[in-house]
Amino acid sequence: MERPDPKFAIIGAGMSGILAAIKLQEAGLDFTVFEKADRVGGTWRENTYPGIACDVPSHIYSYSFELNPEWGYLSSPGEEVQRYFEMVAEKYGLDAHIRFGEAVSSAAWDGEAWHVGTDNGFSGRFDWVIAATGVLHHPKRPDIDGLDDFAGPIFHSAQWDHDVEFEGKRIAVIGNGSTGTQLTGALGGRTEKLSLFMRTAQWVVPLEQVEYSEEEKQAFRTDADLLRELHESLSDSFHEGFASNIIDAETQMVRDMEVVCTDALETRIADPVLREKLRPDYTLGCKRLVVSHNFYDAVQLPSVEVVTDAIDRLESGGVRTADGVLHEVDIVVLATGFHVDSFMRPMDIHGVDGVLLDDVWKERPSAYLALGIHGFPNFFMLNGPNSPVGNFSLIATAELQFSYIMQLVEMWRSGQADFVHPADEAAARFEAERVEAAKKTVWATGCRSWYLDDRGIPFAWPFPFDRFKAEMAEPKLGDYITH
Ligand code: NAP
Repeated sequence: MERPDPKFAIIGAGMSGILAAIKLQEAGLDFTVFEKADRVGGTWRENTYPGIACDVPSHIYSYSFELNPEWGYLSSPGEEVQRYFEMVAEKYGLDAHIRFGEAVSSAAWDGEAWHVGTDNGFSGRFDWVIAATGVLHHPKRPDIDGLDDFAGPIFHSAQWDHDVEFEGKRIAVIGNGSTGTQLTGALGGRTEKLSLFMRTAQWVVPLEQVEYSEEEKQAFRTDADLLRELHESLSDSFHEGFASNIIDAETQMVRDMEVVCTDALETRIADPVLREKLRPDYTLGCKRLVVSHNFYDAVQLPSVEVVTDAIDRLESGGVRTADGVLHEVDIVVLATGFHVDSFMRPMDIHGVDGVLLDDVWKERPSAYLALGIHGFPNFFMLNGPNSPVGNFSLIATAELQFSYIMQLVEMWRSGQADFVHPADEAAARFEAERVEAAKKTVWATGCRSWYLDDRGIPFAWPFPFDRFKAEMAEPKLGDYITH
């Protein structure tokens, strides 16, 4: 049975949702995108804190089919990345397909198709669901006592309050991951005082910022091959050279990078006391690497202090540390990361025989090859659990995942399958192999990080990028239930 007119629901209009929409449009298929906010952009729309930038080179962080000669910087500021996604969505006329301000609240499989419901009462039937909901989108407030006792403005970095003036104020930044580091680099020297509360020192890669000149941009505009070559060479060296190697703590590259980062710490931080505070005591790459051109300058400004004493609690006037000191501040920013195990939840998702995704994922989320779940036919995720979120470009990952999903869609459209979902045994086999490999990665060498699940096992893709590419090249049909 040929199926000429399938309908797709895409959840989310961030980087992956835009990608899915463009690809379905190119294939001439019918799709609706559900977006909870009023604009596209996902994480780049949500995160507007000072200093936000893409620390993956911008010319990699672009769709392969929509390279961008206009990137202004090697690591573009967040607003430039947001503008890129808005430009792409507009170019492809996606707005007409997006239901803005509508969050998907439920999806139920009826044996043939999905019934998708939203929080404002929409209900529709779709043959396929693509969940493109992202990973880092549920802000995590830390378990610190007294958060509500603080008298001044207090907000998470992903919920930046732009009405709050920080010039002339004393500001506390809690957390020094990629976000806290960028914030400190940008705000340092622009406030009366900035206190960075740092629980664990980070390995900081001292990558200098590069601004592309007008001549370079003009060359990229007029020579598509030049732009493509740059994209490809950066992608190859980044994925195969850097990201695939850094997974393995034993590689020479990890040691070499430790030397480079230590050298930057030794030569750029003048005060030996501060230098020791900033010295990490775990293997480089165990936590997600922080890349910064200005963090080490910022922390040496007279108006910036790095506080490594543990936080005891927040009080109305500031942050009380365990040594009894009250650090008086006017504003508190929680750069404390995200709940990374939510994915498309909270959402009522019922698969075969009404099985609830929340029950299937009761212990923790997991997915066959990071994109499919047994018992949830024709339901696939982009950048879902176990995706290569480590140091790879999420765009390259999502492109490979989507072309894989389209092969399953084609199989179903041509009538070779009534529906498609991974077999339980295949999913279990993949997960067992993945866990064994994950235990041997650099992420498991002894540090606290958002890569670790509730058992302390890294949840990300633990294999090199070429294995991911090989897996995504063609589905193993024997791993799927199709009738
Ligand atoms: P994160 O890496 O999870 O860092 C959270 C920070 O908050 C850590 O320093 C953590 O300390 C601290 N923290 C958490 N709970 C705390 C508590 N109770 N008391 C004191 N400190 C606490 O979060 P993130 O910096 O927002 O970054 C998350 C991810 O987003 C990054 O790894 C990256 O993948 C992505 N990101 C990317 C970019 C980019 O440029 N592309 C920019 C920003 C973010 P510990 O280290 O001790 O746990």
